[in-house]
Amino acid sequence: MIPVQRAAAPQNTQTLLGRRTDAVRSAGATTRAAREEWRKAATPKRHIRDLLRGMAHGAERCMYCLDNLGTDIDHFQPIAVAPLRAFDWPNHLLACSSCNSNHKRDEYPCDEAGNCLLVDPSTEDPADHLLLLPASGEYEALTPKGVQTIRVFGLNRKDLVIGRQTAFVVCRSALHDWHALLLSGDTVSAAEIARALRLTPFADVLRSLERSPLAPSAEVAVFGAKTAAALTEWRRTHRVIPGSTHR
Ligand SMILES: [Zn+2]
Repeated sequence: MIPVQRAAAPQNTQTLLGRRTDAVRSAGATTRAAREEWRKAATPKRHIRDLLRGMAHGAERCMYCLDNLGTDIDHFQPIAVAPLRAFDWPNHLLACSSCNSNHKRDEYPCDEAGNCLLVDPSTEDPADHLLLLPASGEYEALTPKGVQTIRVFGLNRKDLVIGRQTAFVVCRSALHDWHALLLSGDTVSAAEIARALRLTPFADVLRSLERSPLAPSAEVAVFGAKTAAALTEWRRTHRVIPGSTHR
């Protein structure tokens, strides 16, 4: 999981969504009323989906697993928990059906004070709660929120772990190629590889490499000299600060 920059909803979209919220409220603000209103809300859904697609990483990947195509509008705070947030734009994220329907569903764990224990990638940096170990392909929790996020979204499910391990190998190889092309002066081909890297599924793997908080010597020991050198140049070229949580 990596940060997502939420787009501002245009005024006409906000108006559409506001009307639907009013309708849910008028119908008693129940889960059933919200689900019924959501079911028949084809136009608002189209607006929401278009906005979310523009925010998604790569080729419209799921904002949770970054692997599958983001096909579903997920209610971060489920309709079952907050019917009046069914049409609340900040509550919408793009998810694949596996993350949305098979894993998260209506789960919304909270701590004793009522604070949500799931990471919302549109409001916070997941790296504050989750550490991706790129070679192993697994996430480690840094906080209780990280623990619940891994559990609820199934972030360490087998297909994702294998996918990240594979992405790590491909990513390193592409970084080597990119660096070699850059050194040879072929900036056009290097830019093509850089673009492909950004569009590849599992954008969290590239981000974990480029934001790695390891010291340069440790990076050489962990990833090898060739990868460490390519990463140093990649960060310089793309103005990425290692260890930072900024976009
Ligand atoms: Zn997913």
